[in-house]
Amino acid sequence: MSELIEALREELPADAVLTDPDVTRSYAHDMASFCEAGTPAAVVLPRTVDQVRHVMRTATALRVPVVPQGARTGLSGAANAGEGCVVLSLVRMDRILEIDPVNRTAVVEPGVVNAVLSRAVNEYGLSYPPDPSSWEECTIGGNIGTGSGGLCCVKYGVTAEYVLGLDVVLPDGRLMSTGRSTAKGVAGYDLTRLFVGAEGSLGIVVRAVLALKPVPPQQLALAAEFPSTDAACEAVCRIMESGHVPSLLELMDNTTLRAVNDLTKMGLPDTTEALLLAAFDTADPAADLAAVGALCAAAGASEVVPAEGHAESELLLQARRSALVALEAVTGTTMIDDVCVPRSKLADLLKGTAAIAEKHGLTIGVCAHAGDGNTHPTVCFDPTDEEESRHARESFDEIMALGLELGGTITGEHGVGILKKEWLARELGPVNVEMQRGIKQVFDPLGLLNPGKLF
Ligand SMILES: Cc1cc2nc3c(=O)[nH]c(=O)nc-3n(C[C@H](O)[C@H](O)[C@H](O)COP(=O)(O)OP(=O)(O)OC[C@H]3O[C@@H](n4cnc5c(N)ncnc54)[C@H](O)[C@@H]3O)c2cc1C
Repeated sequence: MSELIEALREELPADAVLTDPDVTRSYAHDMASFCEAGTPAAVVLPRTVDQVRHVMRTATALRVPVVPQGARTGLSGAANAGEGCVVLSLVRMDRILEIDPVNRTAVVEPGVVNAVLSRAVNEYGLSYPPDPSSWEECTIGGNIGTGSGGLCCVKYGVTAEYVLGLDVVLPDGRLMSTGRSTAKGVAGYDLTRLFVGAEGSLGIVVRAVLALKPVPPQQLALAAEFPSTDAACEAVCRIMESGHVPSLLELMDNTTLRAVNDLTKMGLPDTTEALLLAAFDTADPAADLAAVGALCAAAGASEVVPAEGHAESELLLQARRSALVALEAVTGTTMIDDVCVPRSKLADLLKGTAAIAEKHGLTIGVCAHAGDGNTHPTVCFDPTDEEESRHARESFDEIMALGLELGGTITGEHGVGILKKEWLARELGPVNVEMQRGIKQVFDPLGLLNPGKLF
């Protein structure tokens, strides 16, 4: 047995240290399966903070890299193993430690699944708003690692806005608390926020204090069909400009609609060029939908169909949630862009993306959290075809370049990982990169935490 495995097992039960290569290989990568990944020396599944501290102390003593993992639903290779690393999977630390209705907070371990937390707090009349489409699988630790968003973020904001405090194990095994449990607090630098979106590169989140909201009224949705993506994006601008606050404002282009229909047989209108879904969870959602429906019609919608009730609204959401999986089914592999632009530039991004798809002869479907300007142009390709893979990568990059040109960012919610790391420096510029490297050096001087990601 290697020194590493022996040392890990000193304070971990046998079933918490996996070394069979057939098993460890299955932890090698997240959902960006085409990104490079190595075989871990071990996969460790701790249940306690002390066990995590032991793993980090051992890794530091033996200078072995550690890759933290949640549910591996990430889309940028940020949870991918490096050759010979320790994969530190937090999925067994899945307890909800406290739900506090007075303070409207929850205290959770990192392996709690997003939807499990949502349902649990619902019992108290509370909600945890960040709702990635992967919510039935992804973990709170992974959501914090990526700073994830979701469908209702247009009204309720993203993960960063709900993380009040953290317990974090540093690479040398020290345990640090950041932030607060209170509604307000400005003591010192905001290290809590620093960990949100850090992609496991600064420390291991072992406990999180999360803010909750009262459960809003059930939302009602409408679907608006448009003869062009331009018209749909114009409707998005009109809705936002008019002061409406939808609880959801999502767009699917024709390619995506066809893919969703192929997969789910839902019968979405797939001859239309773009479908906009808008929802309201206000006191009078029907009135808000009528006003937004009129704005859609004025922007050129050919059809505006309000859902008949909550069940039909939920069905429309399900259709949107299945978009990425549906596009993946087109060729088996996708490269998913995550470019976020100012809403006013959404139409330019979609038009540019269509031109890039045509130039490279590829299928690129776009679904978008349109109200946030956050688009997911999804490049469908066959990874066994070298030429097609090259075109896929080129088109993926060209979409990011276009996003930056339009004043946007290369990633609104999926993170940088391996997939976009060449692009991070382009977006940040040399001074910002230097400061970020300095921060990394302070937290992880030996560079053992999730190396090869971000920079
Ligand atoms: C079908 C589908 C739909 C999706 N829809 C959305 C969406 O709408 N919005 C969105 O934002 N994302 C979406 N995603 C992407 C993904 O689900 C999110 O990025 C999610 O937050 C990842 O959570 P995870 O538990 O799978 O984390 P992982 O993929 O395992 O890890 C993600 C990152 O967090 C780090 N990490 C994990 N746990 C810890 C920890 N305890 N401490 C420190 N670092 C940690 C990892 O090292 C890695 O860098 C989607 C993915 C799929 C497959």
